[in-house]
Amino acid sequence: MRYCGRTHVGKVRKKNEDAMHADGRLFAVADGMGGHRGGEVASATAIKMIADAVRATPEDANVARLLAGATISANEEIYRKAKAGSGPSGMGTTLTAAAIVDDVLTIGHVGDSRAYLLRDGQLSQLTEDHSLVGELLRSGQLTPEQAFTHPKRNVLTQALGTSEDITADIGTHKLRAGDRILLCTDGLTTTVTDDGIAKLLAGPGEVDAACAKLIDAANRGGGQDNTTVIVLDFSDAEPFAHTEPIGMKPTVARRGRSRRALLVLVPLLLGLALAAFALFQAFNNTYYLGVSQRNRVTVFRGVPGSFLGLTYSETYNETTVTRDQLSEASRKLVEQNAVVGDLETVEAALRTLEVVAPPLERGPTDETHPLPPGHPPVPPTEQESPTQTV
Ligand code: CA
Repeated sequence: MRYCGRTHVGKVRKKNEDAMHADGRLFAVADGMGGHRGGEVASATAIKMIADAVRATPEDANVARLLAGATISANEEIYRKAKAGSGPSGMGTTLTAAAIVDDVLTIGHVGDSRAYLLRDGQLSQLTEDHSLVGELLRSGQLTPEQAFTHPKRNVLTQALGTSEDITADIGTHKLRAGDRILLCTDGLTTTVTDDGIAKLLAGPGEVDAACAKLIDAANRGGGQDNTTVIVLDFSDAEPFAHTEPIGMKPTVARRGRSRRALLVLVPLLLGLALAAFALFQAFNNTYYLGVSQRNRVTVFRGVPGSFLGLTYSETYNETTVTRDQLSEASRKLVEQNAVVGDLETVEAALRTLEVVAPPLERGPTDETHPLPPGHPPVPPTEQESPTQTV
C-alpha cells in the first residue's frame, strides 16, 4: 500500500491556503478561504484537529462517528476563532478526510474538495460538492459540462467555520486490492475534467508519478488556484509504505483577497438528512418504534435520539395509526422509543401495540383493533454514494 500527497500554490496566487495530512491511517485535504490569513488558519486548524482526533482514538473505534465528531469540533473551533476575533473574520475551509480501517474507507466531507475512487479503470466521485453548482447539477438543472465551466462554481453552500451548524457527509466504502483513491481540492477539479483525471490516475507509474501529473495538469490548465492531491493505492497484502506523516505546506504571510464566495443559505434540513442518512450505514441493522412527524406510529431504521446534533435514523415503515389512537401504555412505549432492536423484534412489538381508537383512513370500525395495519415495509433506496439525498 502506497500513498503520496502534494500541494502547489499554482501560477497566480501568492500563497497556498490548502492544507493536507496523510499518515497511512488518515488522509485529508482542506481548502481555506477568507481574507488576510483566514484561509490558511482555517484549513490548518481543520487538518490539525482531525489528525489529532484520529491519533487520540483507538484503532477499533467507530470511524464514522469519529470523523463526524472531529469535523463538528473543527467547525466549532474555526467558527469560534472567527467570532472571537482571534482569527480573521469570514474565514472558512473545506474538509475531505478519509480513514482506512482494514478494507473499509470512511470519508467525512464538507465543502467542494473531492474524493474519487479509480477501480478497474473507472473513476467515480465518492463525495458530493456542497456548492451551488453541485446542487444545480444534482437537481438536473446543469449538465456536468455546464457545471465544469459555470461562472459561479466557486460558491459553496457549506464550509467549516462559517456557521454554527454544519452537516458533515459521512460515507463508507468497501475497498478492493488495486483500488486507487484520490483526494483533491478544487484547484484540480476546476481545471481538469473527470475524464482527464481518470486518464492521469490510470496511467502507468506509482502514486508519486500520479501526484506529479495531476499537479502539472492543474498548472497547465492555468494554475489559477492552489492545488492539493493525495493519491493512495489500496492493497490488502502489505502495510503502507510510508510511516512518516506527509507534512503541511510552509506558510507565506501575505495579504490577499479570497476569490471564494460563500453562500450561507444552507438548506439545513436537507443537510441534516444527508448526514443522518449517511450514518445509517453504521446502524443499518437497528430499528426502533417511534412517532413520525405526522404523529403516526412508525418503525424507524437507525437509533433514536441524536449525537453531536445529528440524528441517525430514517422512516422504515410509517403505519396509518396515530399516537392518539393507542392505549396509554402503548403510547408511552412509542413516544419514549422504548423498543429498539432488530427488525423482527421491533415488528413483533408493533403487533402488540393496543389500538383503542379507529385508525385514520379506515373509517369507524370496532372498538379495538388488533394491530396497526400499516403499509407494507418499504426498504430505503440503496445507494452506493456516501452522500445520499433523502
Ligand atoms: Ca481552492
